[in-house]
Amino acid sequence: MTLAADSSLLRVRALQLPVALFAAVASLTACADSRSSESAVQGRSEPAATATATAPAPVAPTKLAAPTWTAYIRGEPVPAPQIEMGDPRTIKRILDEGVHRNQVMAHLTHLTQEIGPRLTGSTRLERANEWAASKFREWGLSNVHQDKWGEVTARFDRGPSSGAVYLKRARRGSEGEAGGAERDADFRKVRDLQFSTLAWTHGTEGPVRGRVVRMPESTEEFEAVKDQLNGAWVLRKAVITPGRTDMRGVGSSMSDRVLAKHGERTGTATKDLGVREADEDAFDALRAELRPYLDAGIAGFVSSSRDDRVWTTSVRRWRETKAEDAPRDIEVSITLPDYDYINSRIADGEDVHLEFDLRHEFVTGPFAVYNTVADIPGTERPDEFVIISGHLDSWDGPGSQGCTDNGTGSSVTMEAARILMAAGAKPKRTIRFILWTGEEQGLLGARSYVERYASTLDKISAMFVDDGGTNSQGGLSCTDAMVDMLAAATAPVNDKFFDSADGKPLRVNIRPSGTRMQQSGGSDHAAFVARGVPGFFWDEIGRAEYGRGWHTQFDTLELAIPEYLKQASTCSAITAYNLACAPGLLPRWQTEPAGEGEGGERRRPRRDREAEAASN
Ligand SMILES: [Zn+2]
Repeated sequence: MTLAADSSLLRVRALQLPVALFAAVASLTACADSRSSESAVQGRSEPAATATATAPAPVAPTKLAAPTWTAYIRGEPVPAPQIEMGDPRTIKRILDEGVHRNQVMAHLTHLTQEIGPRLTGSTRLERANEWAASKFREWGLSNVHQDKWGEVTARFDRGPSSGAVYLKRARRGSEGEAGGAERDADFRKVRDLQFSTLAWTHGTEGPVRGRVVRMPESTEEFEAVKDQLNGAWVLRKAVITPGRTDMRGVGSSMSDRVLAKHGERTGTATKDLGVREADEDAFDALRAELRPYLDAGIAGFVSSSRDDRVWTTSVRRWRETKAEDAPRDIEVSITLPDYDYINSRIADGEDVHLEFDLRHEFVTGPFAVYNTVADIPGTERPDEFVIISGHLDSWDGPGSQGCTDNGTGSSVTMEAARILMAAGAKPKRTIRFILWTGEEQGLLGARSYVERYASTLDKISAMFVDDGGTNSQGGLSCTDAMVDMLAAATAPVNDKFFDSADGKPLRVNIRPSGTRMQQSGGSDHAAFVARGVPGFFWDEIGRAEYGRGWHTQFDTLELAIPEYLKQASTCSAITAYNLACAPGLLPRWQTEPAGEGEGGERRRPRRDREAEAASN
């Protein structure tokens, strides 16, 4: 190519020069625009080379007007604080990718439909770990690995399980007199049940059908029905506490009963069953109450939930229990409508039978358990991090697909990674994507991470968790000192997505909470906040009611709301990119010495922390 001929090119090139130079200068302040100026940055020599050939003496860069974005602080719109963060063209490409080519629903569909519920230590969770890693590799991320955080003694895989109500037909004429063994023809299936049982407990050896006997409430009543108890499903009276609408209490009392029977069956002392000393007397009384039922050879207990949901949780001491030592005595939790149906059939004098087929596969390990990790390495400060995360594990009750707890947060995390790669983002600091596991059992993967990577914690600018369901990422609680950076980082995504129900724009509201980090939402970020690392649990804003799917049989793909998840994945991508390009790390707050005030994780009793951890 000749010069003269090149004049037009030159002009173009001449035109390009100021831009390239600006980009070079811009990169000194914010992250370079990978697509165009990257080469400029990398090839500063390159444009300089061409520059040396043709470029006039460097001219003062003309400041390109940074797009004016609107931030929301305390619910009020304000001009986004002018802090140089990501390259506006990269941000534009991230928004374009997130708005027009978003794949978050493809990830969520695969997780829920192809893999299903993902209990810690289960086969399905391991498949999800591997699948997620393969996607991160496919999108070009670096350092993709399975981060082993521990082991579980036994693998529990809940197979397809069923439960149903049968009414026994009265035999007529000669049939009646014949007596003899019960035949299928004697039963009419009248209702499928929605139910759950505790994870890490044994199931049935095939379908088990038995008469329903209401649990006697006195010794006399017990004497009256004891001949019917062998092989029977004993229906516990429903305990409806006015105002209580969640699982609290249901799980632990069910776990207590299953453990009490286990203790009776195996002759294990109460103190060796992980029962708190303060509860030993009550537990022994429970053992005594249940002993006669074991002796009577019942099929199991059936208890009612508080409404049409059934919640799934685990038996205590699940982690150290070998398969062969796990409880074998069954308790099934059914929905209140199912309970009412059974109860009224009995009241009508029907001969009600239940049949459960609980296919629980149990294999003694140990089995390693992992967080899945992937990076977009920083170009200038690769040892500094912004973490985008959500937990991949879920509860595994029959019917659940682990969708909104937490397939949504996992898919949002994965899509944020894909969007950034597709947009060619080159952040200054490393953006790390983590899919935690063991969250439902006490933030186990995250707590192990902060232990093992304690030396890197002061280089983490911020850690984000999406674990509040399918709603949009609508806000962040932070200290006053963090407001400007978070407002600037999130502003570009405001008013880019809209709620299809009311057409309203989706926005991220920054909520300052004073000088200390408030502990909101019991999820993996709590392990970081407890170490003084800015850990954020996204406020989830939208029309979805989180409690519908939270640990229940309703946690399926149907609950997902795509427009919110597209916003959330794009918001996570933008926020991470901007903070990874920001002049500095997010400011920290004064943490109290452990044991005093908020944030000192060691202050709260183990049960409370586990209960809180189980609360999300
Ligand atoms: Zn969760």
